Amino acid sequence: MASVTIKNVRKTYGNLEVVHGIDLTIDDGAFVVLLGPSGCGKSTLLRMIAGLETVTAGDIEIAGKRVNTVHPKDRNIAMVFQNYALYAHMKVRDNMSFALQLAKRPQAEIDEKVGWAAKILNLEPYLDRYPRELSGGQRQRVAMGRAIVRNPAVFLFDEPLSNLDAKLRVQMRTEIKELHERLKTTTVYVTHDQIEAMTMADKIVILRDGYIEQEGSPLEVYDKPANLFVAEFIGSPSMNLLEGEVTSSGVRLSDGTLLPLPASHGAQPGQKVVYGIRPEHLKLGSGNPAKVNVVEPTGPEMHIYAEFGGKEICVVTQQRVAPARGTAIEVSPQLDRVHLFDASSGKALV
Ligand code: ADP
Repeated sequence: MASVTIKNVRKTYGNLEVVHGIDLTIDDGAFVVLLGPSGCGKSTLLRMIAGLETVTAGDIEIAGKRVNTVHPKDRNIAMVFQNYALYAHMKVRDNMSFALQLAKRPQAEIDEKVGWAAKILNLEPYLDRYPRELSGGQRQRVAMGRAIVRNPAVFLFDEPLSNLDAKLRVQMRTEIKELHERLKTTTVYVTHDQIEAMTMADKIVILRDGYIEQEGSPLEVYDKPANLFVAEFIGSPSMNLLEGEVTSSGVRLSDGTLLPLPASHGAQPGQKVVYGIRPEHLKLGSGNPAKVNVVEPTGPEMHIYAEFGGKEICVVTQQRVAPARGTAIEVSPQLDRVHLFDASSGKALV
């Protein structure tokens, strides 16, 4: 196992800088997820750790050793790709043992390691099949098996679940997390899926346009988003965001709606702010009026979309209520869960 340290790392393609001086520490044994929308630079960062892309400036260290110029195969890392990258003409057993064969490990050791990985990953019945004879989830497990038999210092995952159907994705998410609990190998995992990030990570690093917007535990970034981008990106349905102005009695929206503020907050009277409240922190029954547009039952919850303060908001409730379109309802924010952001900088006001 090993820590990974990224020091002021930049990446340019031609004249275009796409990663702008990133500093990040990935602790020994941690499961860190790089999260962000398509094009934010997360794969580029991962591929620089792997050595598949050169580092334009800055340093990458694995286990305290600078690896900028170290060949990928000498970095003691194993990478699992979205498309699995299995050898089609090789049976599962050979796919899994390939790196060990190349390294000329003794056959007894290879058999033992492949057997061990196949057991952990429930692949024992499939060792003599070809990849084409496996389901998507089984192929993904073979790709992981190939990574773990090498006992690398660091696992790198690049959107490994994107090609799986929704149900299998949830199952594999748990399997990867369990694998990490078991092996405790330092892991860097790239995804654009915030649920994947929330459920798997010890630490989430949220990227936008080649910059880190925030890093923290899943609940830290959920409960205390540092800015509007993170607030909107984390959570589904998204946080309700309403623009207004701070007054002595609350936040006044453009249509006159007055929203209550907690006793202590970081905003000044007259300041233009964005008032944020997650759908599950809006209570039904009293408060400000809203008009129902549509109700979506998910089973455990009802998602009520309604016109409020000149915008559509979402209320999530566990009550089995399904008001018809056009119905007037009343909603009130849970005061201790209100977020305030400065309207021009987007930064959270604490
Ligand atoms: P993500 O993984 O977050 O979707 P990438 O790291 O793949 O984003 O890409 C980051 C940015 O770098 C994007 O704007 C992308 O177009 C650009 N980019 C990635 N690879 C190359 C390349 N080989 N040449 C030029 N631009 C690239």
